[in-house]
Amino acid sequence: MLEADPTPQANAHLLTDAEALFAHLADAVYLIDPHTSNILWCNRKAWEGLGLGPEDVLDHSVLSLQMDVHGLPQWSEIANAIRATDCFRFIGRHRHQQGHEVPVEVNTTHFELHGKAYFLSVARDITNRVAQEADSQSREKQLWFALNEASDGLWDWEVASGTLFFSPQLKRMLGYGPDEMAPVLETWSRNVHPEDAPRVLAILDEHLRGKRSRYEAEYRIRNRNGHYLWVHDRGRVCEFAPDGQPARVVGMVQDISKRKQLELLLHEHASNDPLTGLANRREGATYLQAQIELCHRLNLSIGLAFIDIDHFKSVNDRYGHLTGDRVLLHVAQAIKNSLRGSDLPCRWGGEEFIVIAPNTTLKQMCLVAEKVRLAVQQALAGHTPAVTVSVGVSAAFGNAIDQTDLMAQADSALYRAKQNGRNRVETAVVAPRT
Ligand code: GH3
Ligand code: MG
Ligand code: MG
Repeated sequence: MLEADPTPQANAHLLTDAEALFAHLADAVYLIDPHTSNILWCNRKAWEGLGLGPEDVLDHSVLSLQMDVHGLPQWSEIANAIRATDCFRFIGRHRHQQGHEVPVEVNTTHFELHGKAYFLSVARDITNRVAQEADSQSREKQLWFALNEASDGLWDWEVASGTLFFSPQLKRMLGYGPDEMAPVLETWSRNVHPEDAPRVLAILDEHLRGKRSRYEAEYRIRNRNGHYLWVHDRGRVCEFAPDGQPARVVGMVQDISKRKQLELLLHEHASNDPLTGLANRREGATYLQAQIELCHRLNLSIGLAFIDIDHFKSVNDRYGHLTGDRVLLHVAQAIKNSLRGSDLPCRWGGEEFIVIAPNTTLKQMCLVAEKVRLAVQQALAGHTPAVTVSVGVSAAFGNAIDQTDLMAQADSALYRAKQNGRNRVETAVVAPRT
């Protein structure tokens, strides 16, 4: 059974008559290589209990059995935690060959034998215990348990002391064992994505102050690997102190990463132009409107550039549409690469682009436009055909910003750029407002 171990001397010491007894053990036993996560030896229950043969388990990574440990980086984190304690407990799920999950409690110890490090894991199928425990608990515990099994995870927060209890399932979702994760609010709050934390904490605070009937938020939370999961978290104050202040809040967390990824993908398809990858016209118009509102509120200026490829029709006529498409892509990339992160380039339609630059004056916008024009000229210089762009620029300030005017001015400036010889930037001539 131990052929998998590359050091035969070590195997000789491990092979004893006691091994035969292990075949009758009700728990699964695995001897694991801490570095590779490979199973070097196991007893019969280890494969039989999962509907597998020994060849499916021996020499395979222990990760292939676990449904809650994903990839070697997470394994190496867990391996460190195992080394740091006498006995590491993990409540997880093993994958049965027939497709269902087997809830298991795994106790792992670490030791050295003949100079080599090993992990020894004993995994107990807790399907029955789980059912019995539910029977013997108080009504509240039963409910807690039922919810725990049904959902991804629960939490229970004592507001005054700051104690925050995480259910084993919630810990498992984040890649931790049931004895890890200090039961304090900071364990949660410091792992919420920094971009989401202010919004989520504000929602929680509003609920505590009675301004919201419940706490509910979608946000990203860091798991053991340092990766972020998207979760849907909701909870409610369920006990109040005699002074009327919230005393206890309970909630439920669901892993929605899969749905969120799909949503983000759909959003990307809906908002991006498939040929150039830039924002499409709808996304550009939405962004422009939102930025104008912001500039109204904060009394800032906004700049806009209309960009049109020169003589593009003749590119198609001479070289064909496929070449035309390739030129469009190169022009789009050149525009994008010449801008700051806060300026949004957008394919407005056909061979026309716009750039929306919040907090930018007319003078600054002319510089932005000139940079774009030059970038396209240089990027396309070595190409056949070498194309150029004409750019019309407009800008406005604070409450004077009017979306229709802003666009009409950039459009007429572009017209003048074409009139005046192309491959140039022209500025809107703004009629003084009365
Ligand atoms: P001007 O310098 O005055 O802008 O001349 P132009 O030829 O670029 O102007 P016009 O607007 O008349 O022509 C734009 C052409 O762009 C017409 C159309 O064939 C081409 N076009 C628009 N969208 C696409 C596209 O997605 N792919 C390709 N290959 N061509 C496109
Ligand atoms: Mg055009
Ligand atoms: Mg054109």
